[in-house]
Amino acid sequence: MTASDAVINDALVAERLAEVRARIVRAGGTGVTVLPVTKSFPIDACWAAYRAGCPAVGENYAQEVVAKLGGRDVPFAVHFIGQLQTNKVRALAPIVALFGSIDRSSQVRELAKRVPGARILVQVNAEPAAGDGGKAGCPILEVPALVELAAAAGLHVEGLMAIGPTVGGPEAARPLFRSVRALATRLELATCSMGMSDDLEVAVQEGSTQVRIGTALFGKRPQLQTLVR
Ligand SMILES: *Cc1c(COP(=O)(O)O)cnc(C)c1O
Repeated sequence: MTASDAVINDALVAERLAEVRARIVRAGGTGVTVLPVTKSFPIDACWAAYRAGCPAVGENYAQEVVAKLGGRDVPFAVHFIGQLQTNKVRALAPIVALFGSIDRSSQVRELAKRVPGARILVQVNAEPAAGDGGKAGCPILEVPALVELAAAAGLHVEGLMAIGPTVGGPEAARPLFRSVRALATRLELATCSMGMSDDLEVAVQEGSTQVRIGTALFGKRPQLQTLVR
């Protein structure tokens, strides 16, 4: 894709959303929701996705969220799916409907204080070297304790989220997705947010209930600094 594909157009986004939904169906998915990931795109992308029928969008960067969506009365929900710094929670609280990438107890404590009853997903990292190299996600063995801590703090834990490995192609994500699905079932959590533009089929086959889609809906992401100023 070229940068010109990133131009946001309602008809194009609607058409691409239909393609994504068709891919989900071909992979055997039923009732799988699509969370359009609008990070680094202008607010038009959120509107296009909303007008195409998506009730929520996913965003990654706190500064961008505040600049793009702060103080606006919008009819779509914003899910925060990027790495969450605790010092950003206060600014995000009035904008974000669901914190979808919680992976540590400090975030749970900050949310409990600033956003009582916040809706969250716990992000799972099941890579062999989990915890190394600053990779996001709670090591899978520690997820039950974090879920329990969040529930005890009054947060509403709706499910788990996982990002497939960046190397090895879609199949490389299958063992992770399978483990995350099994854990969500064991913990009786309804949402299993797994799958992105390149690996949504594998995620759906392994029981995803929500795919998070950026590139396949909006094209290649522009450079962030050109937008937030
Ligand atoms: C950017 C992002 C996505 C979307 O990725 P695409 O490959 O563009 O579909 C999904 N989930 C998270 C957490 C992301 O940061």
